[in-house]
Parts: sequence; C-alpha cells; structure tokens
Amino acid sequence: MHITRTVFREDHEMFRDTARRFLDKECLPRQAQWDEAGFVDRETWLKAGREGLLCVTLPEEYGGGGGDFGHSTVFNEEVARSGASGLGFGMHSDIIAPYILRIGNEEQKMKWLPGAASGELILAIAMTEPGTGSDLKAVRTTAVREGDEYVINGSKTFISNGLTADLVIVVCKTDTSAGAKGITLIAVETTRAGFRRGNKLKKLGQYAQDTAELFFDNVRVPVANRLGEEGKGFGYLMGELPQERFAIAVGAAARLERSLELTVEYVKQRKAFDQTVWDFQNTRFKLADIKAQAIAVRLMIDHYLGEHMRRRLTLEESAIAKLYATEALGKALDEMVQLHGGYGYMLEYPVARDFVDARVNRIYGGTSEVMRELISRKL
Ligand SMILES: Cc1cc2nc3c(=O)[nH]c(=O)nc-3n(C[C@H](O)[C@H](O)[C@H](O)COP(=O)(O)OP(=O)(O)OC[C@H]3O[C@@H](n4cnc5c(N)ncnc54)[C@H](O)[C@@H]3O)c2cc1C
Repeated sequence: MHITRTVFREDHEMFRDTARRFLDKECLPRQAQWDEAGFVDRETWLKAGREGLLCVTLPEEYGGGGGDFGHSTVFNEEVARSGASGLGFGMHSDIIAPYILRIGNEEQKMKWLPGAASGELILAIAMTEPGTGSDLKAVRTTAVREGDEYVINGSKTFISNGLTADLVIVVCKTDTSAGAKGITLIAVETTRAGFRRGNKLKKLGQYAQDTAELFFDNVRVPVANRLGEEGKGFGYLMGELPQERFAIAVGAAARLERSLELTVEYVKQRKAFDQTVWDFQNTRFKLADIKAQAIAVRLMIDHYLGEHMRRRLTLEESAIAKLYATEALGKALDEMVQLHGGYGYMLEYPVARDFVDARVNRIYGGTSEVMRELISRKL
C-alpha cells in the first residue's frame, strides 16, 4: 500500500517472518482438508504452540510469548494476507486467554494458561444463545450454586472453537432477576458430565472455522471455576470486547489490502473486447475508490493500534474501527467479485473466498447496528 507504518518494531517484523513461514508451510497446504472437516486439526494447534504463535501476549511465566498486541496484530494480518481461512487462533489467544489472565486468580492462570499457549487446551467463549445474541444481558443459561459447586443448565449457539474446545468460558445467569448484574463467567471443562456439543453448523463461509452449538444439562463445576466475582460478568465482557472488535477490524484492513492487490493483478491480465478489463475506465475508477478507502482504513487502524498498545482504546473507538473497516471491506469485496466476472463466483479464486468469509465480520463481535448504537451514545 506504500504507506510507512510506524507502529511496529523490529521484533514485530521478525515475528511476522515466523508467522508467514508457518502459514505457508503448515496451514495453506491443509486448507482443503480443514474445509472438508469443518475444523482445524489439533496437530496444527500444537505446532502453532511450539512455534510460539499462540497466546503471544501472555507473560512467559504462563507459557506465553511475553509479547504485546503488536505481535497479535502481526499474526492477524499475516493470516488475512495468506488467505488462510477459519483458524480459531485469534479468538483463542487474543480474546479468550486474556479473560483468564485479567480476571482469573493465580491458581486458574497456572492451571489453564500454559495449556492454552501450547495448544493442548483449546479455548472458547459462549455468550450467544439461540434466543439472544446482541442483547447479552438477556442470556438464559443458569448457574445455580449448590454448596461448593455450580449447576449449569442451558444452551449456546454459534460458538467458535466449539467442536474442539477443551475449556469454555460460559456466560451464565447466577441471578435471573438482576439483568446484567446477574451475569457470571464460569469456565467449564468439556469433559464434564452433562456437557454436549451439537453438530457442526453449516455456514456461508469460513468452512474450516469450527462453529457449534453447546448444551449444558445439569453440568456441575466447582465454584473454583468461576472467573472473577459473581454478578460482575457483564462488566468483564464489556472490558474485553474492545480488543475483540478491534482485532476483527485489524483483520478486515489487511484483507482489504490483499484483495485489492489481487484484483488489480487479475483485471490487468483479463481480456475483454480486445483490451484488458483494467483498460475500462469503470474498472480503474472502482479500484481507485477502493484504494482510497483502504488507505483511510489503514490510517485509522494504525492510529487506534498505537492507542490500544498504550491501553487507551475506548469502547467507542473500537466500535468505530470495527464498523468502518468491516463495512468498507464488505462493500469493496462486492465490487471486486464483480470485476472478476464469473471467476469471482468460483471459490478457487481468493476474492470469492474473501467475499464469503468476510461477511460475518459485520455480524460477530457485535453487529454493525450495535456498533452504530455504541458510537451514537457518545455523539
Ligand atoms: C461464525 C460465527 C461465529 C461466532 N462465534 C461466537 C462465539 O465464539 N461466541 C459467542 O458467544 N458468539 C459467537 N457468535 C455469535 C455472534 O456474536 C452473534 O451472532 C451476534 O452478536 C448477533 O447476535 P444474533 O445472531 O442473536 O442476532 P440478533 O441479536 O438477533 O440480531 C438480529 C438483527 O437485529 C439487529 N439488532 C439487534 N439489536 C439491535 C439494536 N439495538 N439496534 C439496531 N439493530 C439491532 C442486529 O444488528 C441484526 O441485524 C458467532 C456468530 C457467527 C455467525
């Protein structure tokens, strides 16, 4: 994109090389197999752990890489640039492990984080239910305290890493009459009696991303599995959601740049009416608009990345980043599919994969409408 980026240090760029090598060697050759299976195999998780690509921001004492969000961003960008689809590593490392790090006690951190960093313990977070997604405080899964245990009942849906997860952070109601103040986070090992996974959900895109329904039927977990305090779960979720949303925006920015590059290459060699598709003014104007958008997105993302690395990114700013970057990507991909003609509809072309994979960016982590709601509250 010919923009000088000032957010990264030399160690970030070295980490980029490791990430790129891993994606080229270990992921792209397995993509078709993962797409078919609907999940990424455990061996690849373990290899990623050995290469230091999981939980890169966790302190070394918990088995992590001792890096910062710049390292996570580098990995996220390289995944988008490589075209690898459906890896659940970002969710695991940058969204779920941080809950345990920030609100878990020492015993919980020592118990779960080293396995998360090595890939032996795959993590998921279960907020969404069949009856509620955007309105988190309306969850109906209950956790009733009996002595030194909680008994959990309910169901969750659309849970990323749900099929393979070993530990799920479940958003429960410990007080059904208290609304948001009745929400508690409880970590549930998937080996517990009464826990069941549904079938693999068939999705529009991201075929290799394992997305599942989870069922909890009188699942008993020790009170020691509770993360943080009872009734404070909603506040913890609000504290971590900015990073989740910003990570989605970071991936969208990188995907926009890659798709633009590939589309320019494609239209410059594709012939129609004795000229290249690039030679039509319509094509060049469309791509010029997309480049202008991509630059605007890049500048915004790098500015907010700097803010986030200084731990200053607000809920509103992360909503702005997610809304702007994912909407820009969605609209641009639609145009770029069009510029590919029929090939743009064929999944073997990266633009088609990006088109279907990126659609969910405007839905998960909070929909674009919810982002607009959050932004408008500060106007
Ligand atoms: C592939 C995939 C992976 C996912 N992974 C996870 C996961 O790992 N863990 C997890 O907990 N969840 C996950 N989700 C769920 C995701 O976060 C929700 O789907 C999302 O938050 C929207 O909730 P919903 O589907 O219930 O839609 P609804 O809340 O029913 O929304 C329906 C429509 O109403 C609109 N709407 C809702 N509220 C408002 C409002 N206040 N103002 C204006 N419009 C509004 C929405 O924008 C949307 O257009 C995943 C979803 C997908 C598709």
